[in-house]
Amino acid sequence: MPTNSSVKPKYRRIVLKISGEALRNDETGQSIDSDVLDRLAVELKSIRSLGVQVAVVVGGGNIFRGLAGARANGTDRTTGDNMGMLSTVINGLALMDRLEKAGLEVRVMTAIPMDRIAEPFIQRRATRHLSRGRIVIFVAGTGNPYCTTDYAAALRANEIGADAILKATKVDGVYDKDPMKHKDAKRYKKVSHAEALTKRLGVMDAEAFSLCEANKLPIIVFSMADKGAVRKAVLGQSIGTLVA
Ligand code: UDP
Repeated sequence: MPTNSSVKPKYRRIVLKISGEALRNDETGQSIDSDVLDRLAVELKSIRSLGVQVAVVVGGGNIFRGLAGARANGTDRTTGDNMGMLSTVINGLALMDRLEKAGLEVRVMTAIPMDRIAEPFIQRRATRHLSRGRIVIFVAGTGNPYCTTDYAAALRANEIGADAILKATKVDGVYDKDPMKHKDAKRYKKVSHAEALTKRLGVMDAEAFSLCEANKLPIIVFSMADKGAVRKAVLGQSIGTLVA
């Protein structure tokens, strides 16, 4: 793909974390919204044209979460988490399909071996794909129960030497209190890792966040509904909340 060299991205290699919820359409009840996939294809094509190397970690909360399954119907936690990790595979394949149809080169790498469907995650192979301009979608989380896909994003970002994590959610950033419950909640434009930790801002779960903090990995939290947000983020323009 030809690159647009007149525009200089701030980040050379990124991990885009897409929560399962961000893929869902609440109005139609569809777990994987076709419009969101299309929008992602447009966004990723746009940042690939800037030469940015893109890895994606997909969540699975739109289909199944281990903890919720355990609470709701007594599913064994480990079994539920395995179901949750398989949900991320479904989302990842849906995204792969849409990105390929948009003309992007894509590889899906899984933390749980399933060689008919996806490549196993091997760090050196992943970075090789990325340097060749392929979009790599990491699925099945970390491959371990009692973890989240945020942790998988933090882990993979460190493993592949990403410059930042872009966390796409339903909310447009990090607030001082829950914006769904409090009308006067204020969104942070920028916050340090240390402040986010002491104020318990809930950018990610604690384990995932401490992995980012220890390695000084910037995190940008933004809403999937915000068109052009991914491009703005990689260009260093202010969107959502920057944790750095
Ligand atoms: N999960 C897991 N290990 C991992 C990643 C995910 O067991 O390394 C399971 C866990 O049950 C989780 C579910 O997969 O609830 C879906 O992931 P997550 O909740 O992180 O998805 P998101 O909130 O991003 O949609």
